[in-house]
Amino acid sequence: MRTALVCGAGGFIGGHLVRRLRDEGCWVRGVDVKEHEFRETGADEFMLLDLRDERACRTALTRGDGSFDEVYQLAADMGGMGFIHAAECEILRNSALVNIHMTHVASELRVPRYFFSSSVCVYRDMQPGEPEMTEDQAIPANPDNEYGWEKLYAERMALAAARNRGMTVRIARFQNCYGPYGTWEGGREKAPAAICRKVAETADGGTIDVWGDGSAMRSYTYIDDMVDGIYRLMHSDVAGPVNIGSPEYNSVNDLVTTVAQVAGKTIEMHHVDGPVGVQSRNFSNERIYGIGWKPRFRLADGIAATYPWIAEQVRARTS
Ligand code: NAD
Repeated sequence: MRTALVCGAGGFIGGHLVRRLRDEGCWVRGVDVKEHEFRETGADEFMLLDLRDERACRTALTRGDGSFDEVYQLAADMGGMGFIHAAECEILRNSALVNIHMTHVASELRVPRYFFSSSVCVYRDMQPGEPEMTEDQAIPANPDNEYGWEKLYAERMALAAARNRGMTVRIARFQNCYGPYGTWEGGREKAPAAICRKVAETADGGTIDVWGDGSAMRSYTYIDDMVDGIYRLMHSDVAGPVNIGSPEYNSVNDLVTTVAQVAGKTIEMHHVDGPVGVQSRNFSNERIYGIGWKPRFRLADGIAATYPWIAEQVRARTS
């Protein structure tokens, strides 16, 4: 039986990935610094470990007298734009420590396949109408935030382990990912979850605050599509970073309109100052398309699958 380690299994994408790997017949150990907030992790075995510590990484990566067939590194100090701008020092320190130790110990233990979850935050800001950026255009680098710089450094560590230590490394650069069982309140939630929560909290005909003027363009990728991309990439022969994201780009205002339609509410937007991030996004998906990945969910479909779960959380909190 194939064995897999998922770091960050108590989080949003890691939690979904655990289930996909088990469906594919893997024996899965999940590791996180906290339990999953919204459900059982679903792993065959779960360990609470702080992966900033090298010894904890060794414990996570060791099984019997060996290691795992596949390691998925998704643990990160992570949040939406509000968190990314407020917690620069924490992100640079915590996520870098996790990745330094995980990459080092995994290569020392001769893990055959190692997946690292990077982000399109490694790219510079773009203007609307610019042609698609390919993976190679992340360098020369000018990420908009420290989260992106840390991801670039971690990518390079993993790629160095591939070159010098023979570890097969796969790197995905995720676009915004959303879906049920992800953070939806508390300051770390990302835009799709935040908008779903605000709409759920607001009566029909009411108004919600939206950060910025709502014109920033984003691609939003539904969780099932993202997990499918991770799984396909891990088992492909594509070395080097690979963008994974829906080719459907929407403004933040479009996102609000879509959520309101799914909720069956008329919602007015009040645009307020806030950390918006980059203005525009437009990335090539040719590499991930080349291994047979295509997203199955349009934004409206993904929101239809996400909004009821968040609305239920809001109801449960207020009742
Ligand atoms: P998440 O915050 O839900 O999950 C990350 C998990 O890592 C959390 O459960 C957290 O407790 C855990 N973690 C943090 N520090 C740890 C430590 N020291 N030791 C052990 N565990 C620790 O985030 P997510 O959305 O599931 O993101 C997963 C990965 O994908 C992250 O690397 C993130 O940067 C990347 N990513 C996510 C998105 C997105 O839209 N969600 C976009 C780009 C990249």
